[in-house]
Amino acid sequence: MEYIDCTTCEQNMNAFIENKLVGENVWQFITHVEKCSECYEELETRYLIAEALGRLENGESIDLRKELLQKIRYIKRAMYIHYFHEDALRIFEIFSMIIIVYEFLSFVSGYFGIVF
Ligand SMILES: [Zn+2]
Repeated sequence: MEYIDCTTCEQNMNAFIENKLVGENVWQFITHVEKCSECYEELETRYLIAEALGRLENGESIDLRKELLQKIRYIKRAMYIHYFHEDALRIFEIFSMIIIVYEFLSFVSGYFGIVF
């Protein structure tokens, strides 16, 4: 997983707000804004403006700051599950290989009478 810098982060900001950032890009984006307070502040400002404009039209009033945090938390959870799933598959593959090798060895030892 590569890390992005502030310039790339800023370029992705609007896409993130519009829910157009996906896959590895959204993961890199969130990893950056969580560590970089400057980018987070910038994101917060842009998010508040973009959302507030939409809400004003609809006459809604909601805690937008909290929503942004929830949005980030929700995506993080989804990404964790995604990556955990990949890891779990890999572990399962390794585990299957061990079983195959073990079965093979016990077959060989049984067949030739060799004790390992
Ligand atoms: Zn930054």
